[in-house]
Amino acid sequence: MRVFYERDADIQALNRTKVAIIGYGNQGRAQALNLRDSGVNPIIGNIDDSYKETAAQDGFSPVSIEEASRLGDVLMVLIPDEVQPGVYQQSIAPYLSAGKTISFASGYNIRFGLIAPPKDVDVVMMAPRTIGRQVRIAFEGGGGVNADVDVWQDASGKAWPTTLALAKGTGCTRAGAFHTSFKTETDLDLFSEQALWPAIFDSLLTAYEVLVDKGYPPEAVALELYASAEAADIFLAMAKRGIFEQLKFHSPTAQYGMLSHRQDATGSSGELRKRMLATLDKIQNGDFASEWTKEQASGYPAFSKLKKAMFSHPLNDADRSVRQLLDASGAAGAS
Ligand code: NDP
Repeated sequence: MRVFYERDADIQALNRTKVAIIGYGNQGRAQALNLRDSGVNPIIGNIDDSYKETAAQDGFSPVSIEEASRLGDVLMVLIPDEVQPGVYQQSIAPYLSAGKTISFASGYNIRFGLIAPPKDVDVVMMAPRTIGRQVRIAFEGGGGVNADVDVWQDASGKAWPTTLALAKGTGCTRAGAFHTSFKTETDLDLFSEQALWPAIFDSLLTAYEVLVDKGYPPEAVALELYASAEAADIFLAMAKRGIFEQLKFHSPTAQYGMLSHRQDATGSSGELRKRMLATLDKIQNGDFASEWTKEQASGYPAFSKLKKAMFSHPLNDADRSVRQLLDASGAAGAS
């Protein structure tokens, strides 16, 4: 797999280019600040909301999305995926012209054909692999976060230098920008959201219910399962050392328990695999994207019901009370 580092990218590719950030939210703010610190002074386009005020407080002179789209040569679309098709039609597409670049931080709308830019425009992806806050924190610390990069349409013949310059200005080539594709980025992202994280989420909830039902104190259960941040430490160690390598940090009892129960814990490996394949199939054939588009069009009835059920789960009480106990320590490192 091709990975681009600092030496592969030249920020000068953005010389005499006006970069416009559309949406000053999680990613928009972080990417705009990093680009500015890298010598690229972006225009900010945002609706009239608190994010626009934040942009002004950060020293930018934010304008409307239409105005930013009109002024910008490179338009970085950093509004939520589900609102992009509507905003694109209304406020971005009318200002696209030959030679401009439209850049996405997620492959979703291009991969599923929900946005189809004209043929004379460059269409690129520069998708940091983590939350906006971290994109900024890592950059300020002299580092960067990884990104997925790709070019969907190279009308100008300069789409790659532009993409890599955006990745460099954002700090992503400091860590490595991976050349995947709009399809791979989208499918992997949706797969983790729909197959991996729900399995982890549901395991945590089921473990909580089983243990509290059997009389263990909810706060002790929450602390053991996630509130101590041991789970976060394990994931960090997996990222730095590897899934199996990090096992060395655990006692032999823990290692034996984990390895001897791994397949039992998820029912049977065959069942989990079958479900994951079914989820991947729904992602690949576009069924999930259609379902989500319909859900949005009908005012999020299923999504609202699911969120209501989540916030009425008894685990929320344990969360609050374990948080109070942890905060009461007053220790500097307490989170
Ligand atoms: P945010 O949820 O932070 O929203 C960004 C901005 O979009 C806000 O100013 C928001 O304003 C505005 N916005 C929301 N609805 C509309 C609308 N209808 N019209 C105009 N502006 C609107 O977005 P993210 O930064 O989370 O996501 C941006 C892109 O980055 C997406 O493509 C996402 O997939 C990608 N990405 C996100 C990551 C993350 O960590 N969040 C990680 C990697 C990629 P308001 O809230 O006031 O409506």
